[in-house]
Amino acid sequence: MIYADNAATTKMSEAAISAMLNCIEESWGNPSSLYRMGQRAKEVMEDARKRVAVCIAASPEEITFTSGGSEADNQAIRSAALLGARREKKHVISTTIEHHAVLHTLKKLENEGFEIELLPVNEMGMVTVQQVADAIREDTALVTIMYANNEIGTIMPISEIGAVCRKRGVIFHTDAVQAVGHLPIDVKKQNIDMLSISAHKFHGPKGIGVLYARQGIPLVNLIEGGAQERGKRAGTENVPAIVGMAAALEDSCVHMEEYTAKVSALRELLITGLSKIPHCILNGDPINRLSGNVNFCFEGIEGESLLLLLDDRGICASSGSACTSGSLEPSHVLLAIGRPHEVAHGSLRLSLCEENTEDDVNKILKVVPEVVAYLRNMSPLWKDKVSGKKKFVL
Ligand SMILES: *Cc1c(COP(=O)(O)O)cnc(C)c1O
Repeated sequence: MIYADNAATTKMSEAAISAMLNCIEESWGNPSSLYRMGQRAKEVMEDARKRVAVCIAASPEEITFTSGGSEADNQAIRSAALLGARREKKHVISTTIEHHAVLHTLKKLENEGFEIELLPVNEMGMVTVQQVADAIREDTALVTIMYANNEIGTIMPISEIGAVCRKRGVIFHTDAVQAVGHLPIDVKKQNIDMLSISAHKFHGPKGIGVLYARQGIPLVNLIEGGAQERGKRAGTENVPAIVGMAAALEDSCVHMEEYTAKVSALRELLITGLSKIPHCILNGDPINRLSGNVNFCFEGIEGESLLLLLDDRGICASSGSACTSGSLEPSHVLLAIGRPHEVAHGSLRLSLCEENTEDDVNKILKVVPEVVAYLRNMSPLWKDKVSGKKKFVL
């Protein structure tokens, strides 16, 4: 089996698993309890908080543990919105290609009287610093722009956007779920006020993440109850997952250069090989791109059929994002970069990690062209295009 869906989730690292097992066996107390057993759990948790903070150049007090990236996005946006509303600022800037955890939260805010401005992206999926600078107004409460896109891998100019927001006094949040553990991050140098992290995207456990919020930015609670996480996120902390996340993140950060070099070389082999399939197009920026991301549209096929046939041949991949599969709507990201509906339906995302090999790539490069040709041969629409009755789009 070849696993090439690392943007959806990753296999846990040995380091994360052993850290978690050790915590489950040795430090299973409640960190809020005063006896030693509880305090031991508290210690390992606070140690994990420090280690996570170091990886993004934050302070431990700026780290709030959440149930994952979605919760961190929700809490960041809600917090900035409330802070803005208190000062009569109800304008929020984002982009059309954000994750649904951001877009759906913004939709809710819109229903609550906020004005949401989604900046369009260019055909590479990029938003420019100038677009952000031009959109900022006196009443802008928040700019929220993802670090790197989960579908097409485009990396946004986050440091430059951070600098503009800081200069204009606007809170800047970035959904960095696809970037953390894969790209170097320094929240201080990059002027990032809030940042979302999810452990299962860098070989950590699922259901755990982080909201980084710069000191001085007040958070609103999504979950009320006890005083955990400085009163900002109630509920007994998931200590084993927190410890597993810290181990996975450290591992990813220590090996970042080595893994990036290896994975981007595999990515280039895949892109070069798949580009040879007729009537296809690469989605996303060829240069400013996550090291493991490959995303193509193939004209004349359905992404879902492609995935099922690839699964039969032992390849795990994705079409659009996992959250939208099951719905017949094409990916909002592919539509936003200008792919027509017909073409957007035929997308394939392969996302690699350092555990993939050149053999994996060669197998994918053998199987994908076969499956694409097979599906096209079955399609009456494709036959019309080949015979010239209908025009090719790509
Ligand atoms: C996976 C992902 C999320 C959601 O994270 P969860 O921990 O699964 O809730 C949010 N944003 C992006 C960009 C993602 O890739």
